[in-house]
Amino acid sequence: MQGRDLREQLNAFLARHEREFVEFRRDLHMHPELAFAEHRTTQRIAERLRGVGLAPEPLPHTTGLVCDIGAGGGPTVALRADIDALPLTDEKDVPYRSAVPGVAHSCGHDVHTTVLLATGVFLAQQARAGALPGRVRLLFQPAEELPGGAREVVEAGGIDGVDRVFALHCDPRLLTGQVGLRTGPITAACDQVLVRLSGPGGHTARPHLTSDLVYALGKVVTELPAALSRRVDPRAGFSLVWGRVSAGSAPNAIPDDGVAEGTVRCLDDDAWHAAPDLIRELVESVVAGYGARAEVDYRRGVPPTVNEATSVRMLQDACTQALGPEAVADTPQSLGGEDFAWYLEHVPGALARLGTHSPQSSAPMLDLHRGTFDVDERAIGVGVQLMSATALTALWECARAAGGDPVQDAALA
Ligand SMILES: [Zn+2]
Ligand SMILES: [Zn+2]
Repeated sequence: MQGRDLREQLNAFLARHEREFVEFRRDLHMHPELAFAEHRTTQRIAERLRGVGLAPEPLPHTTGLVCDIGAGGGPTVALRADIDALPLTDEKDVPYRSAVPGVAHSCGHDVHTTVLLATGVFLAQQARAGALPGRVRLLFQPAEELPGGAREVVEAGGIDGVDRVFALHCDPRLLTGQVGLRTGPITAACDQVLVRLSGPGGHTARPHLTSDLVYALGKVVTELPAALSRRVDPRAGFSLVWGRVSAGSAPNAIPDDGVAEGTVRCLDDDAWHAAPDLIRELVESVVAGYGARAEVDYRRGVPPTVNEATSVRMLQDACTQALGPEAVADTPQSLGGEDFAWYLEHVPGALARLGTHSPQSSAPMLDLHRGTFDVDERAIGVGVQLMSATALTALWECARAAGGDPVQDAALA
């Protein structure tokens, strides 16, 4: 089932269920839960999935769950939603405003969760009708904001045997009905680096008897970003920027330690993997001439999300089928981080942006991670159309590429 048939079936499904899913989203919005504490949310998702005959499986150590739809030996496509909220105060005046002080769904994860749940209900119908040429795995992932939830899913085997993985994220800068697509990097890596120098201190009259630590630290602060700009491909969008430098306590005393702390942002996956070793090597070479010792503490955040070209094309085909070609929009790369990137370290896939700004609204565009954030709820239906069509498109393509007869296989499944 593709093209017009699929669009008609999705429209009929949404006409029957859209109201219910808007209510589901509002319920999550009123009861937001922080990373790794999404117990009620997980329970509500599981109940609804069991209601359509599915068998959701909780993640072994935490909140969140994984649920397979369809069986048989065909391909497996995973769809991921993040389910956690943020430690922010909900500043909106709406009936579904957060009932939990200091916690709010200000990143739209309530929408992602609802879209995936509704997609699961639709695909379960398809599976019962023998129209699913493989298996769809729903990943309801905890703790995107921490981050860490994606790694939990990967470690629990959540993407073992998965051929492709897809996700969407609300985008308040796109109009409802639009889907933002981009091949290559779509979000950035953000890590933290701390450099600690130590060596003999002493009187500023006799720097030659010390490692002149403040001078050496100054060299690290200026030379390290400069050297990186020559050692990393300029197309990698790599930047090290210091946010804190600290050493010494008196104008005439050379201290015996000091620290510089900053962030590394990067758009390229290879450069991100190479960064810790390269930074350690460069720090060593800068301080070698001063007799200081250097310690580098490199803390990983998330990798850049790098959308794979074939997966983006599948999203585009699905979007065109389910919503029409005018729904496809270009989207710029964001310097924000997104832990969906951890899945793409293992499996090809892509993240799409879901427009949530009402075309009828004259209000200024809202932003994510603000207490005022809200969405045009018609975006939920758009998301369901996109995710359902993407899962089917990817399954059909993977099945064809594997040389099977998806129609017959689906009928036998
Ligand atoms: Zn967020
Ligand atoms: Zn988010």
